[in-house]
Amino acid sequence: MEDTYEDLHTVTHHTDTYEDAQEDAHEDAHEDVYDVVVIGGGPGGEVVADRIVRSGLTAVVVEAEAVGGECSYRACVPSKALLRPGAAREAALSVDGARQAVTAALDPAHVLARRDRFTGRGDDAGQAAWLKGAGIPLVRGHGRLTGERRVEVTGTDGTVRVLPARLAVVLATGTEPVLPPVEGLDRIGVWTNRQATTADAVPERLVVIGGGVVACEMATAWSSLGSSVTLLVRDQALLTGWEPCAGEEVVRGLTALGVTIRFGVSATRVARDGTTRAVTVETDDGAALVCDEVLVAVGRRPRTADLGLEAAGLPAGDWLPADDTCRVTAHAGDWLYAVGDVNHRAPLTHMAKYQARACAAAISERAAGRPADTGGGQAWSAEADRFAVPQAVFTHPEIASVGLTERAAREAGLAVRAVEYRIDDVAGAALYADDYRGHAKLVVDETRGVVVGCTLTGPMATELIHTATVAIVGEVPLTRLRHAVPAFPTVSEVWLRLLEAYGL
Ligand SMILES: Cc1cc2nc3c(=O)[nH]c(=O)nc-3n(C[C@H](O)[C@H](O)[C@H](O)COP(=O)(O)OP(=O)(O)OC[C@H]3O[C@@H](n4cnc5c(N)ncnc54)[C@H](O)[C@@H]3O)c2cc1C
Repeated sequence: MEDTYEDLHTVTHHTDTYEDAQEDAHEDAHEDVYDVVVIGGGPGGEVVADRIVRSGLTAVVVEAEAVGGECSYRACVPSKALLRPGAAREAALSVDGARQAVTAALDPAHVLARRDRFTGRGDDAGQAAWLKGAGIPLVRGHGRLTGERRVEVTGTDGTVRVLPARLAVVLATGTEPVLPPVEGLDRIGVWTNRQATTADAVPERLVVIGGGVVACEMATAWSSLGSSVTLLVRDQALLTGWEPCAGEEVVRGLTALGVTIRFGVSATRVARDGTTRAVTVETDDGAALVCDEVLVAVGRRPRTADLGLEAAGLPAGDWLPADDTCRVTAHAGDWLYAVGDVNHRAPLTHMAKYQARACAAAISERAAGRPADTGGGQAWSAEADRFAVPQAVFTHPEIASVGLTERAAREAGLAVRAVEYRIDDVAGAALYADDYRGHAKLVVDETRGVVVGCTLTGPMATELIHTATVAIVGEVPLTRLRHAVPAFPTVSEVWLRLLEAYGL
């Protein structure tokens, strides 16, 4: 059976050399006019192109750095590869009998080598070869819009190539990290997600600026590898925007790992000593911290500053709001689409790929003269972006969520009731880990009698969340959900307890 992009995304390495792939890509790109030109070969861009080609149309991918995007080499994949050994060790420590077999700390050299096996240290030859096998030409270089359905690509050698599109241009250029206006930050060589996921040595002391998902995951990973980590958090909580229980459990877990968390504190000035290479971080409460590296994880901005958006009547540097078919809304034409992080709908790899599938279906549908109207669960409607975005965070403990928080649901005007349950009290959880700690919160729309949000913390939370996604997307009435019996003795029995807590 032919491999799909989904199968290959994290494991495609070295079927061809880089040079072969580049040469072949150039050979393949003789034809200059394609039905669809995709700028950006990350998860979003690759899947759009794949689906377009499978539908019988032609597509080309323009990529400035590495096919596979941020996700494959400097985000999801290396971060999870760095986190998994610490999680495995903690899991063993939580089971008496196995605990006694854990006799040492993690071995950083092996952890980093394992990460490199997943990322190929940034070598995209495997993914470029996959594109070729899928019949998708790759043009390496920086793509820009220069007019209606027209893209210009500047190669690293300065050569310019014009790629007109018959039907559509899809922008899938992702995001880049934001640096806050802290004096000295742009001069000391800070870590962003790129260095935090690719570093070859464990810093003795790491200061992390930020309190969101990337900050929490990277604090977990590097502290498990032996760094002394301090988190500087401007707010009074971690993971604001999540249910409060998520941030609270992660504070507890990070603290247990030895991470120092300082809330309500912002960095004001940083400087690196030219001799010792140590960094001093001054904060607005008058303190000064000395560390070896500073990771900045305070948010991301769209990679649209140099994308020729002006040629489509759009302002440079902005997000690209898009409708459910991923067609750019602030644009008078009908040929411009945006998928993935750059449209700011749901900045996660799985949602980028979901949007890509919808976008490609919409383009094919419209090419066939049909309108691709949305609203009824059609293949070309990325409507789950608005109500069912799952997110899995591999901190200690794991946390996961899908749909609305109680607060967001109330703000949206829904009449909701929240039910909560300590997963520690589930028999399967106690068998799973001696000190199992976990929390479940369900947000129920009382008018329709369906689940609209779920947050889970604790071991297996990242695997359990899909059950909630299915319940939300399927709009399964709670009275029906009670017939979905979780097996004994599993952590999933928390579903039974939640329904009981609701009164069923
Ligand atoms: C540390 C970290 C960990 C993360 N972990 C997870 C996770 O576990 N799960 C998850 O779902 N999400 C995770 N994310 C988010 C995930 O990385 C993004 O949602 C995902 O990469 C978005 O895919 P994309 O295709 O939109 O953009 P990207 O992956 O950013 O790809 C965009 C591509 O476009 C190219 N490009 C940009 N401009 C141009 C141009 N003008 N011309 C040609 N090419 C161009 C870039 O070189 C890049 O290859 C994480 C993010 C970070 C920072």
